[in-house]
Amino acid sequence: MSAPPTPVPLTPGWPHCGHGADPAHDPIGCRGVHTPGSTACLAHLADADRAAHLAGLTSGSDVDLRGTPLTRSLLNQVLDAVRDPATGNPHFGSAYFAEATFRENVRFNGARFTGPAWFHGARFTGQARFREVQFHDAVWFTEAQFSKSVWFSGTRFMKDAWFDGTRFVEDAAFDMAQFTEDAHFDRAEFSGPAGFRETRFSENAWFSEAEFAVNTATACGVTVGGVARWSDCVTNR
Ligand SMILES: [Zn+2]
Repeated sequence: MSAPPTPVPLTPGWPHCGHGADPAHDPIGCRGVHTPGSTACLAHLADADRAAHLAGLTSGSDVDLRGTPLTRSLLNQVLDAVRDPATGNPHFGSAYFAEATFRENVRFNGARFTGPAWFHGARFTGQARFREVQFHDAVWFTEAQFSKSVWFSGTRFMKDAWFDGTRFVEDAAFDMAQFTEDAHFDRAEFSGPAGFRETRFSENAWFSEAEFAVNTATACGVTVGGVARWSDCVTNR
């Protein structure tokens, strides 16, 4: 009986960097999207080119870092590049972080996203802080994975927020978060404590087939303006 073939990772759906590609073991290499004017992602640009690209960003700029490996240092450079001098907080237009990998603790606290924010399939290997963030448009964390604690405390989701299939491996705090439109948590997995204290869902809250670890979901003081669908949720053991 032969061993099953090693699954071949799908090629990203965008022109990708390919840094470190190796025909035998990793034919795709770095999945980071090309930085405009280059065939390298922001992480693998020459330092001078990276600095020039970041210098071209300003408060409210669109940012495309799909598939890009982001250290804390590199993310902080991006946050500084879009920082609004009036508020001192980062301000993104459209933000494309789909399948990006955040390799250390990251801090988006106080950031404002005035365009849609895509974090679909992103990987957060360190702690992720999204406290008091304002998402003015829709946001997708579908299929993302938070390997350490994540905080969305006090964050405002002003359009639909999608967490379908998102994996929360440790603590997930949505305390005092506000969802102005629909909140989608279908098939989300909460393996650690899930905090929804005083969370406000002004419209519908969808938690179909969401999975919660035993006795760890705290949802006191939640308000739901529309339908709250918790059917088929699984509480382990
Ligand atoms: Zn790269």
